[in-house]
Amino acid sequence: MTFRTLDDAGSLSGKTALVRVDFNVPMEGGKITDDTRLRVALPTINKLRDAGAKVALLAHFDRPKGKVVPAMSLAPVVDDLEALLGAPVRFADDCVGDVAKAAIADLDAGGVLLLENVRFHAGEEANDPAFAAQLAEIADIYVNDAFSAAHRAHASTEGVARLIPAYAGESMRRELEALDAALGNPKKPVIGIVGGAKVSTKLDLLKNLVGKLDKLAIGGGMANTFLFAQGVDIGGSLAEKDMADTAREIMAEAASKGCEILLPVDVVVAVEVRPGADARTLKTGEALSTDDKILDAGPETVARLNAAIDGSKTLIWNGPLGVFEVPPFDAATVAAARHVAERTKSGALIAVAGGGDTVAAVNHAGVADDLTFVSTAGGAFLEWMEGKPLPGVEALSA
Ligand code: AMP
Repeated sequence: MTFRTLDDAGSLSGKTALVRVDFNVPMEGGKITDDTRLRVALPTINKLRDAGAKVALLAHFDRPKGKVVPAMSLAPVVDDLEALLGAPVRFADDCVGDVAKAAIADLDAGGVLLLENVRFHAGEEANDPAFAAQLAEIADIYVNDAFSAAHRAHASTEGVARLIPAYAGESMRRELEALDAALGNPKKPVIGIVGGAKVSTKLDLLKNLVGKLDKLAIGGGMANTFLFAQGVDIGGSLAEKDMADTAREIMAEAASKGCEILLPVDVVVAVEVRPGADARTLKTGEALSTDDKILDAGPETVARLNAAIDGSKTLIWNGPLGVFEVPPFDAATVAAARHVAERTKSGALIAVAGGGDTVAAVNHAGVADDLTFVSTAGGAFLEWMEGKPLPGVEALSA
């Protein structure tokens, strides 16, 4: 994977950099409740400031659907960003046209400006060439630091990148390097863990992975569907019985491509999904009643998974092994996550996790900082795991 970075940009002194960031932060009553996304953008902003560039930050917030919705203004972000940056941040009421141009003209070299919500313009999500041209007009170079928006071909993620010199920011670069180390150019053997609720939402992902991995452990609700497809009694567990043929096809494809599939050999079963519910551990295949639900993988399954991890150099993980939000059904996810963390800390494993609930699961296990990389990019991470080209990344390719 080759892409242009700021190191390829030459002298930036006095130039204006239009920087696409992900400032779609959680907010309650006009206050930011988690500033992770602001922090993630700091290395790129500081690098550009140090190089003497004017920094114009471009972002979306919520879903105003192409109209000006005052409640979805990015203005409330300014104070937090100033505090994190330790420098003034100006705000422009529009991200294009005379308002944006005047605000940029007013900036000193190294100054920072936050532009209003790009999704206030209908041309953004439509990737309208005229709107992309308006964005390109206000800057000399474009920097994309929003991997989480890179699966969308919008004017601010794709269109504008085709019009002026375009580079990956520092956070984008880190994410792409981690993803490359996990699946693009990994140290072998590579193991994957895919869990979560359903097979149907992760079909493309499973199909892509079986062609790339040496081993694939399947957990969570989707393992129930695979077990059912093998003729195993799953009682009243969450499963997609109409996906049994698909599950068998994926197993066959894995076998033909030399990817070993690991399914649970023991399971944790309960009648109720509530904290502290009575739970039994059974061998996979033991008879269940129609009230019984498989809610987690058992200890023998985790021991086998951990041994497989010990035999691997790289791990890619999406989706919990059980209903991790409701203890004790978090046990397998937590035990596996802690093992992954130990192996990674000892230098034996490159471990990349991400997508949806996986970040919450890794945080719940208390190991987010111990993995090589935890992607918070959600949809973009999943599409990348599915092997799909990401328009925002393609536009940066060298
Ligand atoms: P996903 O968003 O597809 O990664 O799915 C995550 C969700 O799957 C979490 O909310 C888990 O509680 C749920 N899940 C995991 N294992 C099971 C299971 N055995 N039965 C029902 N839901 C599960």
